[in-house]
Amino acid sequence: METVSNPGKRLFIGLILGTSLLLCLVLVVLWVIPFIGLQNIHPLASGLLAVALLALGSMILWSSIGLVLNILLSRSFPLSSRFRGITIKLFLPLMTLLGRLFNIPRDDIRLSFIKVNNELVTSERGRFQPHEILLLLPHCLQNSRCPRRLTYDINHCKRCGECPLDGLIGLAETYGIRIAIATGGTIARRIVVQNKPKLIIAVACARDLSSGIQDTYPIPVYGVLNQRPFGPCLDTLVDLPNIEAALQRFLAVPARS
Ligand code: SF4
Repeated sequence: METVSNPGKRLFIGLILGTSLLLCLVLVVLWVIPFIGLQNIHPLASGLLAVALLALGSMILWSSIGLVLNILLSRSFPLSSRFRGITIKLFLPLMTLLGRLFNIPRDDIRLSFIKVNNELVTSERGRFQPHEILLLLPHCLQNSRCPRRLTYDINHCKRCGECPLDGLIGLAETYGIRIAIATGGTIARRIVVQNKPKLIIAVACARDLSSGIQDTYPIPVYGVLNQRPFGPCLDTLVDLPNIEAALQRFLAVPARS
């Protein structure tokens, strides 16, 4: 079976702090370089620039410290609703660059990002009606010998039990949520546009999950990694109880009987 390393949250926290210190260093350099020249323009110019850069630096540090505290203590802080956006839009691209500098495997950063994203998304627990949740699945969960075409309608599955789709469709029926299967990023985006979910529970590999989380922002995505006993994209599996636990966490109403 293919093994997946588990870098956890520490890698992410380290990279966030590294990235924000690097950004602050850039701001200090921006301040120092024109310092002498600005004094010639106006005696207050360098002071004003220093104040502006200090404010920007404080914002970066506040975001990163707030994000780290949010992750460590699993509770929200003022403006914490913005942390997911800051993580996705600012920190992840910069952390990937920083990771490349320090030879940290890309997948380790992705796994760490997914873990932290899930914790931030979990702060929205208990807020969703069943019809607002979309369970988005990759086509590789379908048995590779199954002749059924499910991309346009997952109900074409005859529920033979030969692959995880049987159980997943059953879960969607029990809880009354939407369910769809995507063969790639473009179809996944189309499904999201058509269904307009308020929360997505997505199953995929680390690469597809991290790009999907970025693509669909600001819609919150709770990511569940698939298991790949036969390698990537072939007869993959998923932990059903894990998905059911996530559903129960996010739903505002109890399951339908
Ligand atoms: S449960 Fe059976 S019919 Fe449905 S997708 Fe899997 S193999 Fe095909």
